[in-house]
Amino acid sequence: GSKAAVIDGKAIAADIRAEIKEEVAKLKAAHGRVPGLAVVIVGSRPDSATYVRMKRKACDEAGIRSFHEEVPETATEAEVLKIVQSFNADPDCHGILVQLPLPKHMNEEKILAAISLEKDVDGFHPLNIGKLSMKGHEPLFMPCTPKGCVVLLERSGVELRGKNAVVVGRSNIVGMPAALMLMKKDCTVTVVHSRTKDPQRIVREADVIIAAAGSAHMIKKNWVKRGAAIIDVGTNSVPDASKKTGYRLTGDVDFEECSKVAGKITPVPGGVGPMTIAMLLSNTLDSGRRAIAGK
Ligand code: NDP
Repeated sequence: GSKAAVIDGKAIAADIRAEIKEEVAKLKAAHGRVPGLAVVIVGSRPDSATYVRMKRKACDEAGIRSFHEEVPETATEAEVLKIVQSFNADPDCHGILVQLPLPKHMNEEKILAAISLEKDVDGFHPLNIGKLSMKGHEPLFMPCTPKGCVVLLERSGVELRGKNAVVVGRSNIVGMPAALMLMKKDCTVTVVHSRTKDPQRIVREADVIIAAAGSAHMIKKNWVKRGAAIIDVGTNSVPDASKKTGYRLTGDVDFEECSKVAGKITPVPGGVGPMTIAMLLSNTLDSGRRAIAGK
């Protein structure tokens, strides 16, 4: 039978990063300034440290200045708020990212809401989410992972207008904003979550599937309409004795099976993952451009 085209997120993200690098160089040539991104990290979770290192490297490569503030797990909420406020006031910093999750003794919502709207490159500020959900759907920034999903679809030539899209998952950081962005693109959107009855029947109607449930291989071949485009956000670690670490990462979609019926499909890893950082840089560039060039 036929086989789905694999959407190469790594290659698309590399293209976008190269485009960003060019735009940063143009800003620098015209105004002598570059965009800056601040990362605030609380505590020392090894996975957070890895993400932060990757973000720094990506900034360096694109010519974006990066700031870094690290406080111990035992820091108070007030200390973190103070750091956020100092970046809010710093004219060389155009984006502020507070690495989540935060320790339990901190109010995450309060800290995210303290980030200046103009520097909310993660797009998690309640006003940016609110604007995303209102007519026009024009926030200052859109959350990076779901934005990455939509850009992958667009750059792969998937028509969105008038199509049935099903998003599996309704979290603040992926599912809910992904659904809003697809609505903005004129899809007819259905959101499936853990209380949905007969999700298979619903997913099978989709022209476009965004899977963000965090449930390994829950989407099987008989959930997928022939020719559908599938974006797999799921990043699940499953035991794998053949790996040195003892595990490997896999998606919410059974790639092996589903690539036999889908039209286009992202792999895990190498699909959505690389796009998240590319979108963070893109949001930082937009913010820097607004502040430096006034547009
Ligand atoms: P959450 O756990 O916050 O949300 C999962 C959502 O999926 C919830 O809305 C939940 O429903 C729903 N859900 C869970 N199980 C099922 C099921 N069996 N059937 C239907 N719906 C289900 O996860 P996140 O949104 O943060 O992340 C989702 C996945 O994406 C994870 O695997 C995560 O690792 C990955 N991820 C990858 C990123 C990247 O590649 N850069 C970035 C962010 C996340 P309910 O609301 O009812 O509980």
